[in-house]
Amino acid sequence: MPARLCGQICKIMKNKKLRNDIILICAILLAAAMLSLLLFAFRKEGEYVSVVQNGKEVARYSLSENVTVTLENGGTNVLVIENGYAFISDASCPDKICVHHRKIHCTGEAITCLPNKTVIKIVSGEGVDAVS
Ligand SMILES: [Zn+2]
Repeated sequence: MPARLCGQICKIMKNKKLRNDIILICAILLAAAMLSLLLFAFRKEGEYVSVVQNGKEVARYSLSENVTVTLENGGTNVLVIENGYAFISDASCPDKICVHHRKIHCTGEAITCLPNKTVIKIVSGEGVDAVS
């Protein structure tokens, strides 16, 4: 550290009012850092709907967009993304387990349609599944 800068820091530290200001700024910065960390933690809610067919991801949709897509893989599954939730509104499979599945929106949640070998799952934006 240059001696001149060191001397300036010493001068600042001797000035009580300025020192208090620095402490206050540090506290604000710390609070801001904690707040962004908190916001980041809340972002754990999934952001993308990944469509996996035959074990491979074939498409990815943002959870924030309202879309309806028909997925074809031997049979059909109608994927609906609405208000941050994803669900299957209709399917050609005989069991309709995927249609009756509740809406999903958190990372790690998935709807599987075994007859059509189709899985829709919620993934985080990084593209890597978060292990929770
Ligand atoms: Zn199904």
